[in-house]
Amino acid sequence: ADHINGNSDSPVKLPTIKFTRLFINGEFVDSVSGKTFETIDPRTGGVIARVAEGDKEDVDLAVRAARQAFDDGPWPRMSGAARGRIMMKYADLIDEHKEELAALDAIDAGKLFNQGKALDIPGVANLLRYYAGAADKIHGETLKMSRELQGYTLREPIGVSGHIIPWNFPSSMFFMMSAPALAAGCTMIVKPAEQTPLSALFYADLAYKAGVPAGVLNVITGYGPTAGAAIASHMDIDKVCFTGSTEVGRKIMQAAATSNLKQVSLELGGKSPLLIFDDADVDKAADLALLGILYNKGEICVASSRVFVQEGIYDEFVKKLKEKAKDWVVGDPFDPRSRQGPQVDKQQFDKILSYIEHGKREGATLLTGGKPIGKTGYFIEPTVFTDVKEEMMIATDEIFGPVMSLMKFETIEEAIKKANNTKYGLAAGIVTKNLDVANTVSRSIRAGTIWINCYFGFDRDCSYGGYKMSGFGRHLGLEALHKFLQVKSVVTPIYNSPW
Ligand code: ADP
Repeated sequence: ADHINGNSDSPVKLPTIKFTRLFINGEFVDSVSGKTFETIDPRTGGVIARVAEGDKEDVDLAVRAARQAFDDGPWPRMSGAARGRIMMKYADLIDEHKEELAALDAIDAGKLFNQGKALDIPGVANLLRYYAGAADKIHGETLKMSRELQGYTLREPIGVSGHIIPWNFPSSMFFMMSAPALAAGCTMIVKPAEQTPLSALFYADLAYKAGVPAGVLNVITGYGPTAGAAIASHMDIDKVCFTGSTEVGRKIMQAAATSNLKQVSLELGGKSPLLIFDDADVDKAADLALLGILYNKGEICVASSRVFVQEGIYDEFVKKLKEKAKDWVVGDPFDPRSRQGPQVDKQQFDKILSYIEHGKREGATLLTGGKPIGKTGYFIEPTVFTDVKEEMMIATDEIFGPVMSLMKFETIEEAIKKANNTKYGLAAGIVTKNLDVANTVSRSIRAGTIWINCYFGFDRDCSYGGYKMSGFGRHLGLEALHKFLQVKSVVTPIYNSPW
């Protein structure tokens, strides 16, 4: 692949780092221990800033503030419309700062600056507006009961929620988890990933400026096994919402079970299949397959990491894919020509390269890529393996990088069977012009989202989440709002009843 080597001559002015401390009860504060940690620029491996390292004591302080804001504060008590107005203002402030926010995610996570500015950041502002519009439409039902009673249900905010955020979409994930919680009237503690703490602190400041009361949205930066674990096992948090690896998801659920049985929702790993049938436009299908694995450098839970192509077009598809991969530009996320930035950190970089080595040792054929790029930073070539067998590690494990496993199939039945041969069930894609094939396959695949003739067809009113070991609970849509609400039934005798 083409590589643009340009770390220092960025065309965009790098942002100054304004916020590096914890945000608790409406104020930026140091961690109780006074400790800090480095956040690294994956373009170079250099240090961007030192950020407060929150731990259990800091989580305790944040929970105390959130609890008070929930039990005595205005946020859950004000009308949904009033919360909605504040959220609308919050969205406008985010739009006003979209360049700076996109730049923070670019240096912190290696995300493409132009994509952040055009998609991610305006997307989170719109997500806030979507839930702001739902905040005054939260209601229960009236029940005509079979006995001489009448009842109604209330949908009440669940209370204090804890959000543990991954590093791959620092902005989108912050709001996929926090915007519905705000609309519901919850108060929250948000822990961004240690790799990408910068934009989260900026969002905390903007929330407060928009009028979100102190204590409603607290941000604790820090590590998973310390600050994250303190959230999962806290006795006074009512719900934990986690997005990340399946391995850590299991720990979150265990911690919730052994502490206060807080509610849990998990959005975990994936190994999503893309099925391309003989009648597909091969050129378009190759574009889709590349996008599906290379978007956000493969650091996306719904990446189409297993691509199955029907035998009639297989050879032509392989040829196209190889040509297109060669034109895919990897480079500095601030360069508008780049389509792929660096992997988030050294650990991910090493992990991906070791999967590539493993794939070679297992006997798969490297069609293209397979190597790191450049001497500095964590850039990896778009990589495609052919001759992949279903039991190879590159076909079973979530790699979370730009590595595709390409396989062949003959019949629809075989395609369905292979697609379902995974412990995960986050998403799947189907490319065909045949409606019967599309319908049959979409109903047969056990995954939370099916994209037909598209991929990453996300929208804020269309929920997504896992089947099987990809987790449970949904992001986006009204489903996500309902995660932060619980139902209360209120019952009373009807007039003149024997009660
Ligand atoms: P990855 O393995 O892809 O880095 P993780 O699932 O480890 O992703 O991280 C996602 C989020 O979970 C991060 O915010 C991280 O700090 C947090 N985390 C990691 N380990 C734990 C843990 N034991 N308890 C709670 N949170 C954790």
